[in-house]
Amino acid sequence: MSDDAATAIENLSQETRTFSPSSEFVQNAVARPSLYQEAERDRLAFWRSAASLLSWKTPFTETLDWTDAPFARWFADGTLNVAYNCVDRHVESGHGDQAAILAEYEDGTDATYTYAQVKDEISRMANVLTDLGVKTGDRVAIYLPMIPEAAFAMLACARIGAPHSVVFGGFSADALRSRIEDAEARVVITADGQNRRGKQLPLKPAVDEALATGGDSVEKVLVVRRTGGDVEWTEGRDVWWHEAREDASAEHEPVWVEAEHPLFILYTSGTTGNPKGIIHTTGGYLTQAAYTHRNVFDIKPSTDVYWCTADVGWVTGHTYVVYGPMANRTTQVIYEGTPDSPHQGRWWEIVEKHKVSKFYSSPTAIRTAMKWGEDIPAKYDLSSLKLLGSVGEAINPEAWMWYRRVIGGDRCPIVDTWWQTETGAIMISPLPGITATKPGSAQVPLPGIGADVVDESGKPVENGEGGYLVLDKPWPAMLRGIWGDPERFKETYWSRFEGLYFAGDGAKRDEDGDIWLLGRVDDVMNISGHRLSTMEIESALVSHEWVAESAVVGAADETTGQAVVAFVILRGGNEDAIAEAGGEDKVIETLRAHVGKEIGPIAKPKRILVVTELPKTRSGKIMRRLLRDVAENRTVGDTQTLADASVMDLIQEGMSSKG
Ligand code: ATP
Ligand code: MG
Repeated sequence: MSDDAATAIENLSQETRTFSPSSEFVQNAVARPSLYQEAERDRLAFWRSAASLLSWKTPFTETLDWTDAPFARWFADGTLNVAYNCVDRHVESGHGDQAAILAEYEDGTDATYTYAQVKDEISRMANVLTDLGVKTGDRVAIYLPMIPEAAFAMLACARIGAPHSVVFGGFSADALRSRIEDAEARVVITADGQNRRGKQLPLKPAVDEALATGGDSVEKVLVVRRTGGDVEWTEGRDVWWHEAREDASAEHEPVWVEAEHPLFILYTSGTTGNPKGIIHTTGGYLTQAAYTHRNVFDIKPSTDVYWCTADVGWVTGHTYVVYGPMANRTTQVIYEGTPDSPHQGRWWEIVEKHKVSKFYSSPTAIRTAMKWGEDIPAKYDLSSLKLLGSVGEAINPEAWMWYRRVIGGDRCPIVDTWWQTETGAIMISPLPGITATKPGSAQVPLPGIGADVVDESGKPVENGEGGYLVLDKPWPAMLRGIWGDPERFKETYWSRFEGLYFAGDGAKRDEDGDIWLLGRVDDVMNISGHRLSTMEIESALVSHEWVAESAVVGAADETTGQAVVAFVILRGGNEDAIAEAGGEDKVIETLRAHVGKEIGPIAKPKRILVVTELPKTRSGKIMRRLLRDVAENRTVGDTQTLADASVMDLIQEGMSSKG
């Protein structure tokens, strides 16, 4: 342990399991081990060659301009169009009949859109947007459910060079208004409603409400008809997409823009606080989106059926539903509904139906499936799956093992991909066919990416030590700033460590030098002078067969500074075993002992509370700061970004009744 141990984060857990890819996988893998050497030898040449995955209207001559750091410019004198790269060129190369989108709707109906059809749809929508007054550079807010039109809207904006700002369809009118106002959007694209758990939820009323009290920049609202039925209508402002579409031409010349032209603004999901409007531009973003998608997911355009379950409201839905997959001419599933509608096997039914080969989802979804029990996925034929991915939070080793065994049939490599809204694309991940994977670790920076774990003073930690995750070289898909606030950009990401991008996440290096994410730095606990990450204690809890999910926080404590308080959700199917063992009190005793045994007495939770739900953001991430409020008997802070605010009442009741 180094001298900085008092301030760095401790390395508590050990993981010895590794899984090498099968020789068959290795032989056919897209990513070759030489990628690492090429990037090592000449990083900029490496990215130049990655940029040739795209079609450029005017080739670039300069790769990176970092003179105005931290504001990067990549491929700056090249011109291109993102929609052309994602759609038109595939039609031109003779793949117009290939399915681009296999749409599954919540009510069980489906639809297929070929690349040729997508080209027509986005061209029509680009023409309609132009008629509505949208010009290159104008911002368009998109507030849609997870239907193909969401992808069309994004691509139509990209086609005319109008940066979009997608707002998740589950956000409130207030959240929508503040995002519209921040970006000064000229047009909003929305739908009448959306299907959610067998019900039709109205969507447009939120737009009406947002615009009734602000959002003055908005001139037109383009409305997709999804659920049907009556909607309030503002004459002169509101336009039905299906009506405008009828008169719109399917011919549209893409607007060629400079590589640094803004492609979109996306507000971070708000797990830690006030969302920031992250700016991404065109050439560098699409290069890294296409390159990472192709290599990390081992994409074979003619045979793969890919499914990323993220909503377009999050960055994963931007880079790994719309831009990466479509730049790579992938056939993909887009699913409108929730995983449990109309039944808890819905996702696995879709995998079976479309013979999905590449599946990319989140730890929260995997832990929920664990909670529901493995007999549910067991009912479906999942043998088409070849590779699984995870993103959004660190995945507990035991959840990783469950994913591998129950969903992946012990045969699929798992890629645990670390990245952020700010990074635009995957940064740290195993490469399938090369890396022997370790449950719970994102492992290695991708070729061309510079990432490190440093201590308080910015010095790289030794293997076996914990610290802070930083990125030490500019990368093509990096954010170009925060919309309207360049100072906040510098201060948030570039002021903590000189010359390094600070991601806000804790991490450690294991004995092999592999990187493990330890959760957000804000969540780190201080127990008797030991800085402990919540992640490793949560993983120790989840490694017990009774536990599906857990959240750990540090609560103020008179003797130890902070004390570990754990909230756990039990796995389905263990009711009998638990009753036999002596009920809930026994569970708590057993789990405390289990944590002590797994990672040591210092990490033993002082209190454990069995709950049925945890507070999560709408993107499914655990909001530990709210649990900290409960554990310290404070009024619970801002719950606006919570998916379901009522879980906090339940947890508070449970907390006080069990004192
Ligand atoms: P905000 O920045 O507004 O608080 P957010 O950080 O949740 O919201 P995102 O950009 O969607 O918004 O999430 C990125 C964060 O998610 C990362 O910084 C990290 O904390 C976490 N994360 C993503 N992928 C992984 C992963 N594979 N392993 C561990 N953590 C991950
Ligand atoms: Mg963040």
